[in-house]
Amino acid sequence: MVFFDVGDMGASDELEEAYDMVVVGGGPAGITAGLYAARGGLNVLMIEKAVEGGQMALTKSVENYPGFVTIDGSDLAEKMKAHAVHYGMKSTTGEVTDLRLVSDQIKSIALDDGRSIQAGAVVIATGAHHKRLGVAGEDHFEGKGLSYCSICDGPFFSGREVVVVGGGNSAVDEALYLAQITSKVTIIHRRDQLRAEKLLQDRALSHPKIEFLWDTVVEEFCGEKMLDYLRIRNVKTGASETFPTQGAFIYIGLVPNARLFQHILPLDEEGFIQVDCATLETRIPGVFAAGDVVKKPIRQIVNAASDGALAATMAIKRLNGVI
Ligand code: NAP
Repeated sequence: MVFFDVGDMGASDELEEAYDMVVVGGGPAGITAGLYAARGGLNVLMIEKAVEGGQMALTKSVENYPGFVTIDGSDLAEKMKAHAVHYGMKSTTGEVTDLRLVSDQIKSIALDDGRSIQAGAVVIATGAHHKRLGVAGEDHFEGKGLSYCSICDGPFFSGREVVVVGGGNSAVDEALYLAQITSKVTIIHRRDQLRAEKLLQDRALSHPKIEFLWDTVVEEFCGEKMLDYLRIRNVKTGASETFPTQGAFIYIGLVPNARLFQHILPLDEEGFIQVDCATLETRIPGVFAAGDVVKKPIRQIVNAASDGALAATMAIKRLNGVI
């Protein structure tokens, strides 16, 4: 089924490509949207910024995606994409710089390389990025001992002592990964209880190489050229001290990658794209949002994939005039 072709759209000089549906983002939500759209007969293009998989590809060990007791996140991403491509999804690499409406039916997506792609429906699945602490020295020491990605940077700290800041699933997951490479991991958490799920908590709490600094916040990252120590404060006693470390990994939550769309789509107070929960359609008919760019109580690969399936199915209905 092809809903649009370039002729239908009144091709302009800048127009290069036209699809029934364009998916922006190549994580589990985007890939699954592409799979469902392709299997639903749409001519669908997925645009990914770098490599496929998004946050999933940066996860060393995924243990809660059904069908795989444990799988490397980048392997799962590769399998997902190959599956969607098998059924006809096309993909391209590029950074989306704009989304605008050409008409009620046609949306135009601009890419950083100058391409302009038109689509009848769009699924925004741009995911989220890691939140920053916003304290002194954070910008300065990024890449000089301070990191937001243990898979990328963990090996630099082989055999050394590092800290992980945060108490959620990401912080604990990454601390467990870093404990395999480094000599000791100290989790610095602002409360005296972890937010992470019980199974991860149990593993970390009983791990011989993981220690905890409870009720503690980092106030400054310090050093000469490279990170050397932290200034930390106990939030219960108010006591401040220094804590020596050459490696710090920050995992304190996610910020949606939605700012690019704020001129055209309403975002909530935390920056997530607002959607109709039953359809994942935004306030613009034919524009859907799926995965971590949408507010949700849990952020798992499985429910990002579920979002992608729903958004694509509803997009097909929208293109068919059924909703
Ligand atoms: P999260 O669940 O929102 O946890 C953020 C953690 O950072 C919390 O412990 C929070 O403390 C702490 N925090 C937030 N702001 C802070 C600040 N300014 N200073 C110090 N600490 C701060 O975020 P996440 O761990 O990145 O996970 C994001 C989503 O991905 C979650 O839905 C998570 O379940 C999911 N995820 C799942 C898995 C898995 O299933 N294996 C793995 C990774 C991520 P408080 O607890 O005090 O609020």
